[in-house]
Amino acid sequence: MTERVIVVGSGPAGLTAAVYTARANLTPLMLQGFQLGGMPGGQLMTTGLVENFPGFPDGIEGQELMARMQQQAEHHGTRMVMEDVTEVRLDRRPFGVFTSGGTEYQTQALIVATGATARRLPIESEKRLWGRGISACAVCDGGLPIFRNKELAVIGGGDSAVEEATHLTQFASKVYLIHRRDKLRASKVMQDRAHKHPKIQLMWNKTVEEFLGDKMLSGLRLKDTITGEISELPVVGCFEAIGHEPNVGFLKGQLKTDSEDYIVTKAGSTITSVEGVFAAGDVQDRRYRQAVSAAGSGCMAAIDAEHWLQEKELV
Ligand code: NAP
Repeated sequence: MTERVIVVGSGPAGLTAAVYTARANLTPLMLQGFQLGGMPGGQLMTTGLVENFPGFPDGIEGQELMARMQQQAEHHGTRMVMEDVTEVRLDRRPFGVFTSGGTEYQTQALIVATGATARRLPIESEKRLWGRGISACAVCDGGLPIFRNKELAVIGGGDSAVEEATHLTQFASKVYLIHRRDKLRASKVMQDRAHKHPKIQLMWNKTVEEFLGDKMLSGLRLKDTITGEISELPVVGCFEAIGHEPNVGFLKGQLKTDSEDYIVTKAGSTITSVEGVFAAGDVQDRRYRQAVSAAGSGCMAAIDAEHWLQEKELV
Protein backbone atom coordinates (compact mmCIF):
# COMPACT_ATOMS: atom_id res chain seq x y z
CA MET A 1 0.00 0.00 0.00
CA THR A 2 1.27 3.49 -0.83
CA GLU A 3 0.66 6.23 1.73
CA ARG A 4 -0.29 9.68 0.55
CA VAL A 5 1.82 11.35 3.22
CA ILE A 6 4.18 10.14 5.92
CA VAL A 7 5.25 12.49 8.69
CA VAL A 8 8.59 11.61 10.31
CA GLY A 9 8.97 13.00 13.82
CA SER A 10 6.48 13.68 16.59
CA GLY A 11 7.41 17.05 18.08
CA PRO A 12 5.27 20.18 17.66
CA ALA A 13 6.15 20.44 13.94
CA GLY A 14 5.30 16.82 13.10
CA LEU A 15 2.14 16.73 15.18
CA THR A 16 0.83 19.98 13.71
CA ALA A 17 1.57 18.66 10.21
CA ALA A 18 -0.36 15.52 11.20
CA VAL A 19 -3.37 17.51 12.45
CA TYR A 20 -3.52 19.52 9.21
CA THR A 21 -2.95 16.63 6.79
CA ALA A 22 -5.48 14.52 8.71
CA ARG A 23 -8.07 17.29 8.51
CA ALA A 24 -7.34 17.49 4.76
CA ASN A 25 -8.38 13.79 4.53
CA LEU A 26 -4.87 12.64 3.62
CA THR A 27 -4.96 10.00 6.43
CA PRO A 28 -1.32 10.61 7.39
CA LEU A 29 0.95 7.99 8.86
CA MET A 30 3.24 9.33 11.56
CA LEU A 31 6.52 7.58 12.31
CA GLN A 32 7.02 8.98 15.79
CA GLY A 33 10.59 7.88 16.37
CA PHE A 34 11.72 5.75 19.29
CA GLN A 35 15.33 6.21 20.34
CA LEU A 36 17.18 8.03 17.58
CA GLY A 37 17.29 11.80 17.99
CA GLY A 38 15.69 11.99 21.41
CA MET A 39 12.38 10.72 22.70
CA PRO A 40 9.04 10.67 20.85
CA GLY A 41 7.37 14.03 21.39
CA GLY A 42 10.68 15.86 20.97
CA GLN A 43 12.46 18.35 23.15
CA LEU A 44 9.34 19.53 24.96
CA MET A 45 9.15 16.11 26.61
CA THR A 46 12.17 17.11 28.68
CA THR A 47 11.13 20.70 29.30
CA GLY A 48 9.28 21.85 32.40
CA LEU A 49 6.67 24.56 32.33
CA VAL A 50 6.24 26.10 28.87
CA GLU A 51 5.29 29.73 29.42
CA ASN A 52 5.35 31.02 25.86
CA PHE A 53 3.04 28.73 23.90
CA PRO A 54 0.00 30.89 23.10
CA GLY A 55 -3.30 29.84 24.64
CA PHE A 56 -1.96 28.82 28.05
CA PRO A 57 -1.82 31.98 30.18
CA ASP A 58 -0.55 30.06 33.22
CA GLY A 59 1.87 27.94 31.16
CA ILE A 60 1.59 24.25 30.42
CA GLU A 61 3.97 21.36 31.18
CA GLY A 62 5.89 20.30 28.05
CA GLN A 63 4.74 16.68 28.31
CA GLU A 64 1.12 17.73 28.75
CA LEU A 65 1.30 19.97 25.68
CA MET A 66 2.71 17.15 23.55
CA ALA A 67 0.14 14.65 24.86
CA ARG A 68 -2.64 17.06 23.87
CA MET A 69 -1.15 17.61 20.39
CA GLN A 70 -0.90 13.85 19.88
CA GLN A 71 -4.52 13.35 20.97
CA GLN A 72 -5.59 16.04 18.52
CA ALA A 73 -3.65 14.43 15.64
CA GLU A 74 -5.11 10.98 16.46
CA HIS A 75 -8.60 12.40 16.90
CA HIS A 76 -8.50 13.61 13.29
CA GLY A 77 -7.30 10.25 11.98
CA THR A 78 -3.48 10.17 12.14
CA ARG A 79 -2.07 6.66 12.51
CA MET A 80 0.94 6.49 14.84
CA VAL A 81 3.86 4.04 14.71
CA MET A 82 6.55 4.31 17.37
CA GLU A 83 9.60 3.36 15.31
CA ASP A 84 12.76 5.11 14.17
CA VAL A 85 13.25 5.84 10.50
CA THR A 86 16.69 4.54 9.64
CA GLU A 87 16.78 5.28 5.91
CA VAL A 88 14.77 6.83 3.10
CA ARG A 89 14.98 6.40 -0.66
CA LEU A 90 14.14 9.68 -2.32
CA ASP A 91 15.49 8.69 -5.73
CA ARG A 92 12.37 6.72 -6.59
CA ARG A 93 8.60 7.30 -6.63
CA PRO A 94 6.80 6.60 -4.44
CA PHE A 95 9.51 7.29 -1.86
CA GLY A 96 10.76 4.42 0.31
CA VAL A 97 10.84 4.83 4.10
CA PHE A 98 12.62 2.15 6.16
CA THR A 99 12.22 1.75 9.92
CA SER A 100 14.14 0.16 12.79
CA GLY A 101 11.35 -2.44 13.00
CA GLY A 102 12.29 -3.70 9.54
CA THR A 103 9.25 -2.29 7.75
CA GLU A 104 9.44 -0.55 4.40
CA TYR A 105 6.73 2.03 3.78
CA GLN A 106 6.00 3.76 0.51
CA THR A 107 4.68 7.28 0.29
CA GLN A 108 3.88 9.92 -2.31
CA ALA A 109 4.76 12.86 -0.06
CA LEU A 110 7.11 13.03 2.91
CA ILE A 111 7.22 15.57 5.73
CA VAL A 112 10.50 15.57 7.66
CA ALA A 113 10.08 16.94 11.19
CA THR A 114 12.80 15.10 13.08
CA GLY A 115 13.99 18.03 15.17
CA ALA A 116 17.42 18.31 16.73
CA THR A 117 19.46 16.50 19.40
CA ALA A 118 21.37 17.96 22.33
CA ARG A 119 25.04 18.53 21.51
CA ARG A 120 27.65 16.98 23.82
CA LEU A 121 31.16 18.01 24.72
CA PRO A 122 33.70 15.93 22.80
CA ILE A 123 35.85 15.03 25.81
CA GLU A 124 36.94 11.47 26.60
CA SER A 125 36.15 11.73 30.34
CA GLU A 126 32.67 13.01 29.45
CA LYS A 127 31.85 9.72 27.72
CA ARG A 128 33.18 7.73 30.67
CA LEU A 129 31.15 9.63 33.28
CA TRP A 130 28.01 10.16 31.17
CA GLY A 131 25.00 9.18 33.30
CA ARG A 132 27.27 9.14 36.37
CA GLY A 133 26.74 12.75 37.29
CA ILE A 134 26.73 14.17 33.73
CA SER A 135 23.48 14.71 31.88
CA ALA A 136 21.95 16.88 29.16
CA CYS A 137 18.59 17.16 30.90
CA ALA A 138 18.08 18.84 34.26
CA VAL A 139 14.33 18.33 34.08
CA CYS A 140 14.82 14.55 33.64
CA ASP A 141 17.66 13.98 36.10
CA GLY A 142 17.98 17.07 38.33
CA GLY A 143 15.72 15.69 41.07
CA LEU A 144 17.80 12.52 41.62
CA PRO A 145 18.86 11.99 45.26
CA ILE A 146 22.59 12.26 44.36
CA PHE A 147 22.08 15.91 43.40
CA ARG A 148 20.04 17.00 46.45
CA ASN A 149 21.60 19.84 48.43
CA LYS A 150 24.83 19.52 46.43
CA GLU A 151 26.78 21.95 44.26
CA LEU A 152 26.04 21.44 40.56
CA ALA A 153 27.16 22.99 37.28
CA VAL A 154 25.50 23.85 33.98
CA ILE A 155 27.55 24.44 30.82
CA GLY A 156 26.29 26.93 28.24
CA GLY A 157 25.07 30.49 27.90
CA GLY A 158 21.77 30.18 26.04
CA ASP A 159 18.15 30.04 27.18
CA SER A 160 18.41 26.30 27.81
CA ALA A 161 21.40 26.75 30.12
CA VAL A 162 19.60 29.38 32.20
CA GLU A 163 16.43 27.30 32.24
CA GLU A 164 18.35 24.22 33.39
CA ALA A 165 20.23 26.19 36.05
CA THR A 166 17.01 27.73 37.36
CA HIS A 167 15.34 24.33 37.48
CA LEU A 168 18.28 22.84 39.40
CA THR A 169 18.08 25.53 42.10
CA GLN A 170 15.06 23.65 43.47
CA PHE A 171 17.34 20.78 44.50
CA ALA A 172 20.91 22.06 44.59
CA SER A 173 22.64 24.09 47.29
CA LYS A 174 24.33 26.09 44.51
CA VAL A 175 24.45 26.06 40.70
CA TYR A 176 27.48 27.29 38.74
CA LEU A 177 26.57 28.50 35.28
CA ILE A 178 29.76 28.07 33.25
CA HIS A 179 30.01 29.97 30.00
CA ARG A 180 32.84 30.23 27.50
CA ARG A 181 32.34 33.97 26.95
CA ASP A 182 31.56 36.96 29.20
CA LYS A 183 28.02 37.54 27.91
CA LEU A 184 25.04 35.23 27.91
CA ARG A 185 23.35 34.39 24.62
CA ALA A 186 20.05 33.86 26.48
CA SER A 187 17.12 36.25 26.06
CA LYS A 188 16.96 39.32 28.31
CA VAL A 189 14.30 37.89 30.61
CA MET A 190 16.31 34.70 31.12
CA GLN A 191 19.53 36.66 31.66
CA ASP A 192 17.83 38.67 34.40
CA ARG A 193 16.64 35.44 35.98
CA ALA A 194 20.20 34.07 36.07
CA HIS A 195 21.74 37.30 37.40
CA LYS A 196 19.16 37.71 40.16
CA HIS A 197 18.93 34.16 41.43
CA PRO A 198 20.73 33.85 44.78
CA LYS A 199 21.72 30.23 44.15
CA ILE A 200 23.16 30.76 40.65
CA GLN A 201 26.78 31.82 40.31
CA LEU A 202 27.95 32.82 36.84
CA MET A 203 31.43 31.76 35.83
CA TRP A 204 32.62 33.66 32.77
CA ASN A 205 35.21 32.73 30.14
CA LYS A 206 35.56 29.12 31.22
CA THR A 207 35.60 25.88 29.26
CA VAL A 208 35.69 22.33 30.59
CA GLU A 209 39.04 20.66 30.04
CA GLU A 210 38.18 17.47 31.85
CA PHE A 211 35.47 15.80 33.90
CA LEU A 212 36.96 14.47 37.13
CA GLY A 213 35.96 11.39 39.08
CA ASP A 214 36.48 7.66 39.15
CA LYS A 215 33.07 5.99 39.16
CA MET A 216 31.02 9.17 39.66
CA LEU A 217 31.62 12.80 38.75
CA SER A 218 33.46 14.65 41.50
CA GLY A 219 34.49 17.86 39.76
CA LEU A 220 35.48 19.79 36.65
CA ARG A 221 38.85 20.94 35.45
CA LEU A 222 38.26 24.34 33.91
CA LYS A 223 40.33 26.55 31.67
CA ASP A 224 40.05 30.31 31.58
CA THR A 225 39.67 31.30 27.91
CA ILE A 226 41.40 34.68 28.48
CA THR A 227 44.27 33.86 30.85
CA GLY A 228 44.63 30.14 30.17
CA GLU A 229 44.56 29.53 33.93
CA ILE A 230 43.47 26.03 34.99
CA SER A 231 41.23 25.54 38.04
CA GLU A 232 39.18 22.78 39.61
CA LEU A 233 35.56 23.06 40.65
CA PRO A 234 34.18 20.33 42.91
CA VAL A 235 30.66 19.46 41.73
CA VAL A 236 28.76 16.14 41.75
CA GLY A 237 26.49 17.01 38.84
CA CYS A 238 27.06 18.70 35.49
CA PHE A 239 24.37 19.46 32.93
CA GLU A 240 25.34 20.29 29.36
CA ALA A 241 23.16 22.84 27.58
CA ILE A 242 25.33 23.72 24.60
CA GLY A 243 22.83 23.69 21.77
CA HIS A 244 21.51 21.12 19.36
CA GLU A 245 22.27 19.40 16.06
CA PRO A 246 19.60 18.65 13.44
CA ASN A 247 18.55 14.98 13.14
CA VAL A 248 19.32 14.29 9.49
CA GLY A 249 21.43 11.09 9.64
CA PHE A 250 18.70 8.91 8.10
CA LEU A 251 18.58 11.16 5.01
CA LYS A 252 22.13 10.15 4.08
CA GLY A 253 22.70 13.34 2.14
CA GLN A 254 19.66 13.04 -0.13
CA LEU A 255 18.30 16.48 0.82
CA LYS A 256 20.26 19.69 0.51
CA THR A 257 21.50 20.89 3.91
CA ASP A 258 23.48 23.95 4.99
CA SER A 259 26.93 24.11 6.59
CA GLU A 260 25.48 23.08 9.98
CA ASP A 261 23.33 20.24 8.56
CA TYR A 262 19.99 22.06 8.75
CA ILE A 263 17.73 21.11 5.83
CA VAL A 264 17.51 23.92 3.30
CA THR A 265 13.96 24.99 2.41
CA LYS A 266 12.79 27.42 -0.25
CA ALA A 267 12.29 30.85 1.38
CA GLY A 268 8.81 31.29 2.84
CA SER A 269 7.91 27.62 2.36
CA THR A 270 8.78 24.11 3.54
CA ILE A 271 9.78 22.92 0.06
CA THR A 272 13.11 21.04 0.06
CA SER A 273 15.55 20.18 -2.71
CA VAL A 274 13.53 17.04 -3.59
CA GLU A 275 10.06 17.56 -5.01
CA GLY A 276 7.41 16.02 -2.74
CA VAL A 277 9.59 16.24 0.39
CA PHE A 278 8.83 19.00 2.89
CA ALA A 279 10.71 19.93 6.07
CA ALA A 280 9.36 21.55 9.22
CA GLY A 281 10.51 22.47 12.71
CA ASP A 282 13.99 22.51 14.20
CA VAL A 283 15.48 20.22 11.53
CA GLN A 284 15.26 23.17 9.09
CA ASP A 285 15.27 26.12 11.49
CA ARG A 286 18.60 27.36 12.80
CA ARG A 287 17.16 30.72 13.83
CA TYR A 288 13.91 30.63 15.84
CA ARG A 289 13.72 27.05 17.21
CA GLN A 290 10.60 27.66 19.31
CA ALA A 291 7.73 25.24 19.89
CA VAL A 292 5.28 27.69 18.36
CA SER A 293 7.41 28.42 15.28
CA ALA A 294 7.93 24.66 14.82
CA ALA A 295 4.16 24.14 15.02
CA GLY A 296 3.67 26.96 12.50
CA SER A 297 6.08 25.40 10.02
CA GLY A 298 4.36 22.03 10.54
CA CYS A 299 1.14 23.66 9.38
CA MET A 300 2.99 25.11 6.35
CA ALA A 301 4.44 21.69 5.48
CA ALA A 302 0.99 20.09 5.59
CA ILE A 303 -0.47 22.75 3.29
CA ASP A 304 2.55 22.55 0.93
CA ALA A 305 2.21 18.74 0.81
CA GLU A 306 -1.54 18.92 0.20
CA HIS A 307 -1.13 21.41 -2.67
CA TRP A 308 1.66 19.36 -4.22
CA LEU A 309 -0.38 16.13 -4.07
CA GLN A 310 -3.30 17.94 -5.71
CA GLU A 311 -1.08 19.47 -8.41
CA LYS A 312 0.37 16.06 -9.27
CA GLU A 313 -3.13 14.53 -9.14
CA LEU A 314 -2.00 12.04 -6.50
CA VAL A 315 -5.15 12.59 -4.40
P1 NAP B 1 21.81 28.07 21.94
O1 NAP B 1 20.98 29.30 21.98
O2 NAP B 1 22.43 27.64 20.64
O3 NAP B 1 22.96 28.22 23.04
C1 NAP B 1 23.99 27.28 23.16
C2 NAP B 1 24.99 27.82 24.17
O4 NAP B 1 26.00 26.83 24.35
C3 NAP B 1 25.68 29.10 23.71
O5 NAP B 1 25.77 29.99 24.77
C4 NAP B 1 27.04 28.61 23.25
O6 NAP B 1 28.07 29.54 23.49
C5 NAP B 1 27.28 27.41 24.15
N1 NAP B 1 28.12 26.40 23.50
C6 NAP B 1 27.97 25.84 22.27
N2 NAP B 1 28.95 24.93 22.04
C7 NAP B 1 29.73 24.95 23.14
C8 NAP B 1 30.90 24.24 23.50
N3 NAP B 1 31.45 23.32 22.69
N4 NAP B 1 31.44 24.50 24.70
C9 NAP B 1 30.90 25.41 25.53
N5 NAP B 1 29.78 26.12 25.26
C10 NAP B 1 29.21 25.88 24.07
O7 NAP B 1 21.00 26.77 22.41
P2 NAP B 1 19.81 26.66 23.49
O8 NAP B 1 20.11 27.40 24.72
O9 NAP B 1 19.55 25.18 23.58
O10 NAP B 1 18.58 27.33 22.79
C11 NAP B 1 18.12 26.86 21.50
C12 NAP B 1 16.88 27.64 21.10
O11 NAP B 1 15.80 27.30 21.95
C13 NAP B 1 17.07 29.15 21.19
O12 NAP B 1 16.40 29.75 20.11
C14 NAP B 1 16.39 29.49 22.49
O13 NAP B 1 15.88 30.82 22.50
C15 NAP B 1 15.29 28.45 22.56
N6 NAP B 1 14.90 28.18 23.96
C16 NAP B 1 13.99 28.99 24.54
C17 NAP B 1 13.62 28.80 25.86
C18 NAP B 1 12.61 29.70 26.48
O14 NAP B 1 12.22 30.69 25.87
N7 NAP B 1 12.14 29.43 27.68
C19 NAP B 1 14.19 27.76 26.60
C20 NAP B 1 15.14 26.96 26.00
C21 NAP B 1 15.50 27.18 24.68
P3 NAP B 1 28.17 30.91 22.65
O15 NAP B 1 27.10 31.80 23.23
O16 NAP B 1 29.55 31.38 22.94
O17 NAP B 1 27.93 30.55 21.22
